[in-house]
Amino acid sequence: MSKRDYYEVLGVAKNASDDEIKKAYRKLAMKHHPDRNPDDKGAEEKFKEAKEAYEVLSDADKRAAYDQFGHEGVNPQGGPGGFGGFGGGAGGFDFSDIFEGIFGGAAGGAGRGGRSNVYRGADLRYNLEISLEEAARGTETKIRIPTLEECETCHGTGAKPGTEPSTCPTCQGHGQVRMQQGFFSIQQTCPRCHGSGKIIADPCGTCHGQGRVKKHKTLSVKIPAGVDEGDRIRLAGEGEAGVNGGPAGDLYVQIHLKAHALFKRDGDDLHCEMPVSFATAALGGEVEIPTLDGHARLKVAAETQSGQVLRLKGKGIKGVRSHTAGDLYCHVLVETPVKLSAKQKELLREFESLNQQSNNPKAQSFMDRVKEFFSQ
Ligand SMILES: [Zn+2]
Ligand SMILES: [Zn+2]
Repeated sequence: MSKRDYYEVLGVAKNASDDEIKKAYRKLAMKHHPDRNPDDKGAEEKFKEAKEAYEVLSDADKRAAYDQFGHEGVNPQGGPGGFGGFGGGAGGFDFSDIFEGIFGGAAGGAGRGGRSNVYRGADLRYNLEISLEEAARGTETKIRIPTLEECETCHGTGAKPGTEPSTCPTCQGHGQVRMQQGFFSIQQTCPRCHGSGKIIADPCGTCHGQGRVKKHKTLSVKIPAGVDEGDRIRLAGEGEAGVNGGPAGDLYVQIHLKAHALFKRDGDDLHCEMPVSFATAALGGEVEIPTLDGHARLKVAAETQSGQVLRLKGKGIKGVRSHTAGDLYCHVLVETPVKLSAKQKELLREFESLNQQSNNPKAQSFMDRVKEFFSQ
């Protein structure tokens, strides 16, 4: 189920002051309070909805998160750490499918006009692929999206300029008609105007009477630093235009991260593989490793083994909702040297002849276990 916009719930503008929000909430709370409306489920729902909206909009942090990410930004079910993945409805993502309606088209909810033929425009989703660096630092990008916008020729009425749609005589503009069937009276969508309540005698040539036209628009999107795979940024009112003067839907920009050549991301942490030469691993030394903001030198202790993990504190990513940056984990991979020269081979043979059992405790303990196994 798609939730109503919190500003819409309280009936205030997006830039409403704290005072206006408080006043609007008080008025709704008085009107719908369960004590005043005993056994009225509808009032109880409205009361809860207003309370939830007020709890978010009265808190500066939550309000900012809501303005940027919509309900996901403040949804407690969003999961730990982030502001959450998709709710159930949106389904999996598909990179080829960059654009689709997500909340089921214009039927997504009646507008505030109270008339059944005024609809809020559909919410839309845009899949945006960005690099790990862009996700870590934040970026601003332009996207071009197809959308339905109000027709400029007829200003959304669908009628040829100079003419006006007339009220449907069959349903008197209600969009619905009552049919008598035996004892029952059944309400149906008006067959003449198909629910719009209007008859357009002279349709607008630009939109063919639809009131909306398909267009491309370019939007500038601010990506906050720290976003992760699956995060969504809400652009309020940038979805499809409403029907018959209803409010526009929202546009959700969903973030996808491109694979990185060096790093794998896990929440706020980064992981990378760090090959170390056989000699450096044995003797200890320093290696240079890449970080997202340049490079760092890392001390490798003597007798370092493959699979050991070295942590660089704070060299991960600072998530959108995190107070500190995550860490960078370097996974050591001791590399067996290849393409050896004759001299190198000779030195290694000499090295091997000096090798003692105690130099290779793992190999030794392995051999001991093998012996035990065969003697049973
Ligand atoms: Zn038009
Ligand atoms: Zn009608």
